[in-house]
Amino acid sequence: MRGKMMSTPLTITEIMLYATRLYHDTEVISITSDEGVHRSTYKNVFERANQVAHALRRLGVKPGDRIATLAWNDHRHLELYYGVSCSGLVLHTVNPRLFSEQLAYIFSHANDQVIFFDPMFLPLLEGLADELSSVKAFVALTSKEKMPESSSLDIYCYEELLAQDDSPFSWPELEETTASALCYTSGTTGNPKGVLYDHRSTVLHAYGSCMAGVLGLSHNDVVMPVVPMFHVNAWGTPYSCPIAGSKIVLPGPKMGDGETLHSLIENEGVTIALGVPTVWLALLAYLKDTGKTIGTLNRTVVGGSACPISIMEEFEKLHGVYTHHAWGMTEMSPLGTVNTLIPSMDKLEESDRNKVRAKQGRAPFGVDMKIVDDEGKDLPHDGVAFGDLKVRGWWVADAYYGEDDNSETHDQEGWFSTGDVATIDQQGFLNITDRTKDVIKSGGEWISSIELENIAVAHPDVAEAAVIGIDDEKWGERPHLIVVCVEGADPVQGSILSSFKGKVADWWIPDSMNIVDSIPHTATGKISKATLREQHSKGLFE
Ligand code: ADP
Repeated sequence: MRGKMMSTPLTITEIMLYATRLYHDTEVISITSDEGVHRSTYKNVFERANQVAHALRRLGVKPGDRIATLAWNDHRHLELYYGVSCSGLVLHTVNPRLFSEQLAYIFSHANDQVIFFDPMFLPLLEGLADELSSVKAFVALTSKEKMPESSSLDIYCYEELLAQDDSPFSWPELEETTASALCYTSGTTGNPKGVLYDHRSTVLHAYGSCMAGVLGLSHNDVVMPVVPMFHVNAWGTPYSCPIAGSKIVLPGPKMGDGETLHSLIENEGVTIALGVPTVWLALLAYLKDTGKTIGTLNRTVVGGSACPISIMEEFEKLHGVYTHHAWGMTEMSPLGTVNTLIPSMDKLEESDRNKVRAKQGRAPFGVDMKIVDDEGKDLPHDGVAFGDLKVRGWWVADAYYGEDDNSETHDQEGWFSTGDVATIDQQGFLNITDRTKDVIKSGGEWISSIELENIAVAHPDVAEAAVIGIDDEKWGERPHLIVVCVEGADPVQGSILSSFKGKVADWWIPDSMNIVDSIPHTATGKISKATLREQHSKGLFE
């Protein structure tokens, strides 16, 4: 028997209409590349999203067309998030940090019809001009006065396009499974892969992430996503903040700048900020150098790569800021787990609490996780057994964009292989030990590179650390440590290696190490272990 309840579709349009009714005055603050700090409200943003929809219609795009953005976290990008998706088009956010060959591949694979770009990225687009044959229109995200000149591309001005029609747009009634946004991930092999979100998955992800114990957002919060809107939708905050009524503070091109982050926190009263560990290192270093404080900030959410406990301790002890470790991936919209301690842990000794806090946390309702062995058999959730992590849920991708066959990544029951190796404990806390492709196997046993890296960065002289497996005749592989030191430090290698003693089994301790000037990162800010392994095998560190 069917129930007798309404089946109103879950659409991003509903988020926009809801926030327009309830939170129209709530502020949206941005740093823009052309006019510094910009102050607006959800009302302004959604009115202009309406104008975006008119402009796109005039440009002649059809429902389902992909509309690309090459833009920072700012109000114009937020307008596009709603103007594009709510008019039945697909917002394709593109990461400007990718190599030009990857960008050319992505634009052509997505068959983008329009590219909205921050003027800063004009040279990048001009360099790709020959490869952008599908693109009907290039739109610079700026005003008439600030329009850049181009000898190779015809460009429209965003503000001029918007000014042409501000009559109410008649938003289409979309099915909830209509595609809303597209984001490419590096994937484990081959070309980047597109994750095609839909309205339903986006609403459920935003709804779930507002919950207490997840991001716990409310209308009392001022949220600063220092995670890019050009990669995995700034962890869904452009959708969750209007649902919760949180003021949103968007740092534009200044995401890695400790001084700007500090002034935004202080001036706008930021209560919760989200970002990858390196962003917080920049802010904490700035606070240390200047002696400044961050009085309003209560919480940070740190993910994207493992967050060392040293970052959490510095935030908590020096600034009274609580850190939630989180894990996720593009294919998961991205939220997979968030670390919020449960009441039974209140009485734990600090060192035991820290052990739990270093884990990536628990899955919210809507995400299901399991770990399996090499044969695909389920492993126990005992915090000890580790295996391939698989997930399933309302906001997990079912297949990649343009691919019908998902058998390489999904099993017959629909579980998606994350490419991560993890343990899960009895209370459901996930602990990522490695990426499958980075696993170190010594004498047939796995060694967690993440755990070793966390110990290394706790050493006062170490700024960043990576552990890779190197070939070994006797053991198959042995861990090798590579570190970047903090400025001015000149430690002896022995002091860093001996800091592992007593913290892990002796046979886990790296036998060798190199101190280098910098560690290579991928376009999404993760340590590129493939590059490190290649550099090491070519003897580049000798
Ligand atoms: P890519 O960087 O390959 O494009 P994503 O941005 O989707 O892909 O990154 C997802 C991956 O990042 C996860 O599968 C995991 O390996 C890693 N990751 C994310 N958060 C954490 C975390 N808190 N700890 C360890 N690894 C993490």
